[in-house]
Parts: sequence; C-alpha cells; structure tokens
Amino acid sequence: MYQPTENIPWFLSIMYHRVVDRIETPDPYHLSITAQQLDAQLSYLKAKGYESVHPLTAIENARNPQRKKQVVLTFDDGYTDFMTHALPVLQKHDYSAMAMIVSGQISGRNVWDAGRAEQLTLMGPADIKEARSAGIWIGSHSKTHPAMGRLDADSLRSEATDSRRTLEDLLGEPIPVFCFPYGSQSELAVNAVKEAGYEAAFGIEQRQHDLFGLTRVDGVKANGAGLNWRFRVSGGHYRLRNRGAQVKRMLRQLKP
Ligand SMILES: [Zn+2]
Repeated sequence: MYQPTENIPWFLSIMYHRVVDRIETPDPYHLSITAQQLDAQLSYLKAKGYESVHPLTAIENARNPQRKKQVVLTFDDGYTDFMTHALPVLQKHDYSAMAMIVSGQISGRNVWDAGRAEQLTLMGPADIKEARSAGIWIGSHSKTHPAMGRLDADSLRSEATDSRRTLEDLLGEPIPVFCFPYGSQSELAVNAVKEAGYEAAFGIEQRQHDLFGLTRVDGVKANGAGLNWRFRVSGGHYRLRNRGAQVKRMLRQLKP
C-alpha cells in the first residue's frame, strides 16, 4: 500500500469516464453520465462561481486561502464520446478539462475491460490533437491500463515513461500529469511515475490529496446535480470519511 507523503489542502476535482445520450445497458462500474446530467452538474458549478483550472494550477493555488473557487474536471480513458458529448457541454460553460489517454490504445478499444464492459472505440491521434486545439489538456493514463500497484519495476517504467513519450511526440509539448488506472498505486509505482518526470498524479477516491495520489469526486456516483452532488462538491464526504478514520484511530487508542 502506498503511503501518501505530500499532502495538499482539499480542492475540488471530479472524475468522469463516458458521456452518453441515454444510459441503456447496466453500468456496474459507474462509467457513464448523460450529457444532460453533465450539463446540470456544470451549470451548478458555474452558478456557484467555480473556475475550471489545470491540475498543476489547482495544486499551486490550493495553499492560498484567498484563492477563487476552482475545479479540476477529468475524463478518463479517452472514449470518442468525449469529442461528441463532453466537449460541447464543456464549451457551453466555457470550461476546460483534462482527458486521460491510454497511450497504447490510441484509436484502439478499452480492451482492459473486455468481458466486463462494452468494447468502445477510443480517441485517435486526430481527436486528441483536436481536443488539445480546443483547449483541453491531455494527461497520461498509462500505456495499457493495468493495476499498477501490482506491477514490477520494469513494467512500471514502460507504463509511465512510454506513455509520456508517445503523448509528447504526438502533441509536441510536455505531459506533466499522470492518472493511475483504477487508482491502483504502490511505493514502486509512484516512484516510476516520479522518475518518468511527471509533476503530479491522480488517484480515484483517495482519502486526501497527495501530490502523486490526487483524490477525485466521482461525478457519476453523485447521481445528477441534486443533494448528493452538492454534498460531494463541498468536500462533505471526504470530511465525513476522514472523521470516521479519526474516530476509528481514537477507538483503537482507547483499547486496553
Ligand atoms: Zn481508466
């Protein structure tokens, strides 16, 4: 288990995967949100004065108590529906986002989900370039989408370094942000990502923000833009969970 080392104060960052017209098939991994729900969530953020920022900007601002309300929007895996369904909604609200690309499956499919989820086409080089031209930032989501917490040093190096190189060659600019598939980490995996030259990395629902394990609210689990969404946006469920962990620690200490 990776132990966080560099804590960063809470800021809002949200995870999405697919954006669709209708959620028709069972969605056990909470991968899909409708464009309408996304629109409602972003409308809420806009109305509350949130500005969408690059993850590194958010980290830089996090320690500044005077900062404006900021949100980091992320879309994992690079499904082509990012172009057709997410981008128009983002543009409507004048928001940007980071698309997390699996470098070994550019124009490929979500083969890591084979047998568990629908096989879908992933963004190709032209899509990625078009997204970048439209102001979307590109992050690396590894080369083959493995649970990196279980890999040895050689495989980790290839996942972290090769994916960075592929994306940098494609876009001709640095790729400073990594995103761990499944949020799976280990000490070794984090070291590989640092050594590959990334400046920060996302996990999923980590207990707190760590520079190489930034935590994200699951926009799909927030289920639209109602009470659950407002609670998650406020950081309520992190405070609650951390409070729960504190209570558990206290109880352990009280044990005779
Ligand atoms: Zn993923």
